[in-house]
Formats: sequence, C-alpha cells, structure tokens
Amino acid sequence: MYPSHVSTELPELAELQRLVAEGGAHVSQRIACEVDCGERRFPVPVITLGNPDPGLPAVGFFGGVHGLERIGAEVVLAFLRSLVMRLAWDDLLHRQLERLRMVFMPLVNPGGLWRGTRANPNGVDLMRNAPVEAQDAVPFLIGGQRLSSALPWYRGPLQGPMEAESRALCRVVEEELLSRPFSIAVDCHSGFGLRDRLWFPFAHTARPIEHLPEVHALATVFDQALLHHRYVVEPQSRQYLTHGDLWDHLYLRAGERPGRLLLPLTLEMGSWLWVKKNPRQLFSRHGIFNPLAEHRQQRVLRRHVQALDVVARAACSHARWLPAGEAREWHRELALARWYRRAAD
Ligand SMILES: [Zn+2]
Repeated sequence: MYPSHVSTELPELAELQRLVAEGGAHVSQRIACEVDCGERRFPVPVITLGNPDPGLPAVGFFGGVHGLERIGAEVVLAFLRSLVMRLAWDDLLHRQLERLRMVFMPLVNPGGLWRGTRANPNGVDLMRNAPVEAQDAVPFLIGGQRLSSALPWYRGPLQGPMEAESRALCRVVEEELLSRPFSIAVDCHSGFGLRDRLWFPFAHTARPIEHLPEVHALATVFDQALLHHRYVVEPQSRQYLTHGDLWDHLYLRAGERPGRLLLPLTLEMGSWLWVKKNPRQLFSRHGIFNPLAEHRQQRVLRRHVQALDVVARAACSHARWLPAGEAREWHRELALARWYRRAAD
C-alpha cells in the first residue's frame, strides 16, 4: 500500500498496514509527507474514518511526535485497533462514524522512532518548532533553544521553515480539524512526572485561553464518564512554559477562523511511575519513557484507550455539553479557581 521507495521496517508502520487492511472500506489512508532518515525514507501516514461532511465535528489522535516516546504511538494504534475490530459488530460505533470524522496520525516522527530520539532526524524537537514565542521566561534548554541541534529541545534555525513533520501535522489539522466547526485533538506523549496528565494550552504563556469554559466543560464530562480516573487535567503553563508549541500555534490558528473551535489536549503519560516500579529502567533511555514490563504496557494501553474513546464520544456529542450564556461564565469562574487562582494540587 505504501510506495516502494519508502521503508516499512518500523513495527508500528507494519501494524498500521494491517489495521488499514482489516478496516477495509471504512478506513482511508494517505501519506502526509515522507521523511529521510539516513539511508531510509519513511512515510508519515494519516488514517481517516467516519463522515467527511465539513459541517460535522472531528476528533484527531496524534502520536510519536517525540520518537523516543514510543508508548504514545502505541496508545494511538491500540485505540485505532479497538475501533477497527469493533467495526465488525458495533452498531453504536457505526452511528458515531455517521456523525463524526476521526483522524489518526500515530507516527508523526518516524525518523525519531527509528533512531530512538526525541527529535526528528534533523535534530529538531517538533514540539518546540512552531512559530510561537513564550511571553515569559522559559526554563533553560527545556523551554526550547536555538543554540545547537546537538542539544535537546532544539527549535530549528531562526526564520527557518518548520520541519516537514511539523508542517505535515499542521496541514492535517488545518484540513481535517480546522475545516470543521468543532474538533478535539489528543497528542500522546510520555515522560513527565508520576501522574498521567492531560494538558491544554497555553504552553507559551500563563494567560488562560479564550475557550477556558469549553475546556472546563470537557473536563467535567471526562470526570463524569471516567469515574475515579487518575488524570490531572491542567494548562501546560502550570508546569512549565515553552517556545514553539505546535498546539498553541494550531489553537491560535483556529482562533483566526470565525466559527471554528479546536480544543487541543496533550496526554502526558507519567513514566516516572514505571521507572519507580522497575528502577533498572533508568539505565535505558527507552526505559525512561516507556513501560518495559509487558503487563505494565498492557495496563497503560488499556487505561488510555478507554480515555481516548471518551474524548471521541465527547467530540461527537459536543452540542450536548458545550456551555452557553450564563453556564459558560460559570464554567469560566470554576476553571479560573481550579487552575489559575491557586497553587498546584
Ligand atoms: Zn513528548
């Protein structure tokens, strides 16, 4: 299915091929861009399901932006697998797909996945690569730097174009999500802290986003649907500020288009817990960002697949929970109290 000049050696690409074949006519695939990595050239695939009507809502799932955080790509693939399997019997899933566009980009940075690096093959951290400048001081290096691609968190050259993978992600979001009145994106990462977190913008400023009431209403839906979940939902700025965040950039782009609302979430799986339970993981770069024990990996996939399913349903049913009028102001007040007027919980 892929052109013969691209490499399909990544196991995640092989799994994607199988899923596309098993999904048959319900699943479409295209190549958003191709990325050179030494001798190899990898495709960056995009999978779509559901109704393409631009009047309907959309939900997008992204993974592998940081190549080292393999579990992010695997969570997106596991969710896609559960959908493809359910296509055979799940009537409610088919009804959902009549009213929702679903977009999957599980391998945004295949070169990084191949090499086991956070950055792409050019040494650029894609999540620092967007044209967004932090408005306050960012932490040294981690906030994004232009000193050298040999150091982590490199943003790419000043005034340079965005990297091919970043451009491809932005194009897919513009075409598939921002072309519709309402959309949610979930970008799956790992590596920060002990808890699983769902971050929403901004990353470049501690200022609340305009659609704080909508995010708070979504968080409420999430709390109610996933009882006793362990996610910390919060603005990324509550942990640290960065330059160049792709989701800040895309949220701002959505704001330039009247009648378009994108709620971007970043799932940060707390990998330090896996390390704590198996300290030997500290001695492997892969192990710091990914669960190594098979039972732990299965538990991680199980938990997050369920959460992604709730997000998809929330996108489909947004008209039932998006707040308006007084309710909107009420959600804003609650959100300001929860996230901006007191210290971290
Ligand atoms: Zn990451």
